[in-house]
Amino acid sequence: MMPMVDGLQLLQRIRSEPEWQDLPVLMISSMDPEDGTAKALGLGASDFVAKPFRVKELLARVESQLKRGRELRMAHEESRARGAIADILHELTDSVKSDEIYQILARRVARALNISRCSLVLAKPGDVYGTVVAAYENPMLRNLRIELARYPEMLKALETDQPVIIGDVPSDPLFVEVRAMWARSGTPVPTQSVVALPFRMREEQCGVLYLRTVHGEAPLGDEDAQFADTVIKAAVAAIEKAHDFETVVSDKERLEFLAATDALTGCLNRRALLEAVAHEVDRARRYNLVLALLMVDLDHFKRINDTLGHLVGDTVLRQLGEMLLRDARSVDAVARYGGEEFVILLPETAAHGAMMFADRMRQRIANFSFGEPTRPVRITVSVGVACFPDPAVDTPESFIALADAALYRAKADGRNVVRQ
Ligand code: GH3
Ligand code: MG
Ligand code: MG
Repeated sequence: MMPMVDGLQLLQRIRSEPEWQDLPVLMISSMDPEDGTAKALGLGASDFVAKPFRVKELLARVESQLKRGRELRMAHEESRARGAIADILHELTDSVKSDEIYQILARRVARALNISRCSLVLAKPGDVYGTVVAAYENPMLRNLRIELARYPEMLKALETDQPVIIGDVPSDPLFVEVRAMWARSGTPVPTQSVVALPFRMREEQCGVLYLRTVHGEAPLGDEDAQFADTVIKAAVAAIEKAHDFETVVSDKERLEFLAATDALTGCLNRRALLEAVAHEVDRARRYNLVLALLMVDLDHFKRINDTLGHLVGDTVLRQLGEMLLRDARSVDAVARYGGEEFVILLPETAAHGAMMFADRMRQRIANFSFGEPTRPVRITVSVGVACFPDPAVDTPESFIALADAALYRAKADGRNVVRQ
C-alpha cells in the first residue's frame, strides 16, 4: 500500500508499457494467498509470494524468474536472427558467386548488429596468413592478405574452433603482445571489443567472421556473438552451394578448353576449327555475310628441324601460334591445322580485307626473330586465302580445300607470298 498507488495498480501500469511487458514481476503481499495469487497473476504478475515469506523460497522463485527471463531473451534473439537470416538468405539465393555472398554477409551482419566493422576472413588452423574476402567498412576491398599473428583473437578462434568474445581489447590478456606491438609502432588502435566466430564448410574449418567495435560504440557481447553465429551458420549452406557451382562451371570450362585447344600452341585444334568453320559458314549463309579463311604454311620448315633440331622447331611453332593469337580479333578463330600449318578464320571479312590482313601477317613473320634471343631463327610463311561465298564452297571441308589450293599456288610462286 504505497502512497497514491497500490501494488496491483503498479503492476497494471508496468504491464501497459510495451517496453516492460516481458519484465518478470514477483509480487509479495499480505493479501490472502489464494485471492492474492488469482488477482496478481490475473494482472500479469509472474509469480506471487504471500507474506510472511521464507527467504529460501523467495530466492528460488527469483532465480526461476531470472532463468525464464534469459530464455525469453534468447527466444527473442532467435526470432530476430531468424528474421534477419530469412532476409539474408533471400538476398543470397539470387547470388551464385561466393564473392558476392561474402559481401552480402559482411554487410547484413554489420547492419543487423548496428556495428561499423564486420569482415570475413578465410583461413585454416595453422595458417600464417588469412585472406579478407569482404569487409563492411571497406566495400571495395577484395582478397586482402593479413598476417594472422597480428590477430590473436582470430588465431584463437581457429585453434579452438570456438567463438572468441573480447569485451575490452585494451585490457584483455590475449592482446598483451599485440598491444605492445601497437605501442611500438605508435599506431593508436581504437578497437574496443571484438568477436571472432570460426565457421566451417564441408566440415572443415575455413574462416572467421570478424566483428569489431571502437571506443564509444556499445561493446559486443554474448548475444551479438550468438546472433552472428546463427547467421554465419545459415549462410554457409549458401556459400557451399556457390562454391560447388563455381567449381562445376570452371571444371566444365577447363574441360571444354582442353578439348578444343592444341597443347603446344594454345590455338584451336583441328576438330574445334572444323566446328567453328561449320558454324561460321552456316551463319554467313543464313545472314548473307562474307567470310574469309587463311591457310598458313611455314616455308621449308623441314630445314629448321634438320639444322636446328626438333625442339627449336617446336619453339618456333609455339611462338608463331602465340603471335597469330595475339594479332587476331576476338571473333577470329586461330587453329593449328596440321603440324606446321595454321588456319585463321575471319568472320565478316571480304577478299580485300583478308588479303591485306594476310600480307601484313606475312611481313611481320618474315621480320620477326623466332627462337631464343641468343640464337634467332628467321622464317617465312606462304598463305592461301579463300573467301565465302564461292561457287566451289558448299561444306566446311570444301572451304578449307579452296584455301589449300591457293596455298599450293603461293608455294609454286616461290613462297613468302599470299595467293587467293
Ligand atoms: P614447304 O612447306 O615450304 O614446301 O616446305 P616444308 O619443309 O615446310 O614442307 P612441309 O610443309 O611438307 O613439311 C612439314 C614439315 O614440318 C615436316 C616436319 O618435319 C615438320 N613438322 C610438322 N609438324 C611438326 C611439329 O610438330 N614439330 C616440328 N618441330 N616439326 C614439325
Ligand atoms: Mg606443310
Ligand atoms: Mg611447310
